Amino acid sequence: MVEGSIAWLFAVGLEVKKMAELLKSGAAMLSETCPECGTPLFRKGNETFCPKCNKPVVIIQSAEQETRLMTDRVLWDSEQILLVKIQEMNMVMKNERDPERLTAYGNALASWLSSIEKLRRLRTQNIET
Ligand SMILES: [Zn+2]
Repeated sequence: MVEGSIAWLFAVGLEVKKMAELLKSGAAMLSETCPECGTPLFRKGNETFCPKCNKPVVIIQSAEQETRLMTDRVLWDSEQILLVKIQEMNMVMKNERDPERLTAYGNALASWLSSIEKLRRLRTQNIET
C-alpha cells in the first residue's frame, strides 16, 4: 500500500521528499483526489489536504458519508418512534392494575429500552446535539 502510494504520487509529480514526509507523519491517503490537480488527498487528524497544492481541501460528501448519514437518520427515526411508544405505554401503565398486564408492559419496556441502547450505539454521530 505504501509503495503503491509513492508510485502514485510520483506519477502526479509530487516531490519524493514530500511524499516520504507525509507517509512517515502518519497521514493517510484518501481515495478522493484534489479537484484542482488530481493528486490523492491526504488526511491527518481532522484536516484533509492536497499535498501538491499545499492547501486544505473540503471534501463534498462522499457517497459513503452520505450512506452513513442516511443510516444514522433511520436509526434516529427508529429511536424516536420507540420513545413515543414508551411514552404512550407509560400513560396506559399508570391506570393498569392487572399484575399480568403490568408484567407484559414491563417486558416490552425492557426490550424497547435495550433496542434504543443498541440504536444509539449503532449511530456514528449524535444528530440531536
Ligand atoms: Zn491539488
